[in-house]
Amino acid sequence: MISTGEQVAGLFGVAGKGVAITGGGSGIGQALGMAFAAGGARVALLDVRPESLEASLALYAKGGLPATGVRCDVTDPAGVERAFAEAGGKIGRVDVLVNCAGITLWKPAEEHTTEEFRRVIEINLTGTFNCCQAAGRRMIPAGGGKIVNISSIRGFVGLPNGIAAYASSKGGINMLTRQLATEWGKHKINVNAIAPGMIRTPLSAFFVDSDVGKNYYLPRIMLGRCGETDDLVGTVLFLASGASDYVTGQIIAIDGGMLAAG
Ligand code: NAP
Repeated sequence: MISTGEQVAGLFGVAGKGVAITGGGSGIGQALGMAFAAGGARVALLDVRPESLEASLALYAKGGLPATGVRCDVTDPAGVERAFAEAGGKIGRVDVLVNCAGITLWKPAEEHTTEEFRRVIEINLTGTFNCCQAAGRRMIPAGGGKIVNISSIRGFVGLPNGIAAYASSKGGINMLTRQLATEWGKHKINVNAIAPGMIRTPLSAFFVDSDVGKNYYLPRIMLGRCGETDDLVGTVLFLASGASDYVTGQIIAIDGGMLAAG
């Protein structure tokens, strides 16, 4: 029975946990890493560009928050394996993996080239799989862990303005999340995802203030505003902490009520 204030406060704690975050050099990954570091976790940021990692680490250092950076292209399985080995050397055991690395592509489906389609799937879906696999191979012998994938409301519903490759990659992440939860439950690995709506980051900046952002998205957000990266922190800490020990295979929309309205 949870019966003391200390137990309740500890439910969402991440202090001492080893947390690897892909895409940690920017946007959502950068913000989540900061919250984990503030919560006392040992944080490794993985990203493809060294200058992005340096920028994140400099930002953390300003707030006195420790973290380490590891260069990693999530599309390269051998590189992912090396990056996880390096991250493990720096932060010790990886208890939590948060998969934030991703790109987008906005154009009508009839104008996507096959190369463009493949690239989005390669980074968003195959990259997420590569990192889940590297983490899972370590979590299985270690006795468990938590994986949080970053999907999108575009993994549930389409968008008239054109986002075919991206939506396909996010639908794939939803099913990958459920499949891994099914396979790895016996290893005490919880695999869940969040599905953000419109969150202000470098990736989304161009459409947040665009006609699509203002005229299509905003009226459909029941809470009446664009999301900020900090709006995602509470749910991700929940999914990384003991509070979610009996939650797996779920995709939680954090969208200001966009999906609820249909
Ligand atoms: P972001 O600011 O662009 O951050 C994504 C990071 O991933 C960037 O640092 C990017 O590097 C990196 N990355 C790209 N390709 C990579 C690769 N091959 N290997 C390793 N890292 C790579 O975007 P964000 O908005 O934070 O998005 C993070 C995740 O949230 C994405 O999966 C996105 O689909 C998802 N999401 C975002 C929103 C939103 O409204 N912002 C909504 C729903 C879901 P470069 O800068 O070099 O590309």
